[in-house]
Amino acid sequence: SAVVELNQVTKEYPGGVVALQGVDLRIGSGELLAIVGPSGSGKSTLLHIVGTLDRPSAGSVTLAGHDVAALSDRRLSALRARHIGFVFQSFHLVAGVSARDNVAEGLLYSGLPRAQRRRRAALALERVGLADRMHHRPHELSGGQRQRVAIARAVVGEPDLLLADEPTGALDSASSEAVMELLHDLNADGATIAVITHDGEIADSLPRQVRIRDGRVVADLRTGAAVPAD
Ligand code: ADP
Ligand code: ADP
Repeated sequence: SAVVELNQVTKEYPGGVVALQGVDLRIGSGELLAIVGPSGSGKSTLLHIVGTLDRPSAGSVTLAGHDVAALSDRRLSALRARHIGFVFQSFHLVAGVSARDNVAEGLLYSGLPRAQRRRRAALALERVGLADRMHHRPHELSGGQRQRVAIARAVVGEPDLLLADEPTGALDSASSEAVMELLHDLNADGATIAVITHDGEIADSLPRQVRIRDGRVVADLRTGAAVPAD
């Protein structure tokens, strides 16, 4: 079943820039895909639309069966918090706060009591290989470790979709590899993951790549078989 489905999505910014045009995209449960394209092609815009942080100018977006257009901003925020985890290039961890408390923040809107949030945060840190870094603060961690903390925070609530925006963009090659390996592992455990990247090598390492150029999907490829879009 589809986690997110975009139908004929167009996004025009005030001033007239058309950043996306007629985009159809279906992300099925359990997929691991790249959304790949050069700078200015519309990746961030697509991330914002898929992540329901922004609404399309035309076309429809369905998240976990809900038509986004039918929801108020408030209900949409609640839906997003339940269904989507975000990872960013620059980690966005809270400074001065332990890895464990950073991860527990991913459960802030879960309704779980603090003790349970902390227990689950510890398990999520173990899951990303950082059991021995629970009490370290971000400045005491390497870039790769910080990104693994951010990934733990994004998945601790078991979202239906993990959206990773250039997750290795700030990392050296060894840390990048570790982060991509972690994403593969999480996907093998059932997570649905979309990686936004300008890096063709990263895109090639994933089982599906959706290529965008000038706001349009120009190819939707799956490993082994190149299936052009439309
Ligand atoms: P990418 O992430 O691939 O670099 P973006 O989605 O950021 O691409 O940008 C796609 C196009 O939309 C670009 O031409 C960019 O200048 C334009 N754009 C992005 N954000 C805005 C905005 N907030 N207002 C106006 N134009 C924007
Ligand atoms: P990067 O870390 O990849 O450079 P940015 O920090 O520019 O990415 O964030 C990408 C976009 O996502 C920005 O428009 C930002 O406002 C938004 N954003 C950042 N953090 C969050 C968050 N925790 N929740 C929702 N949106 C966010």
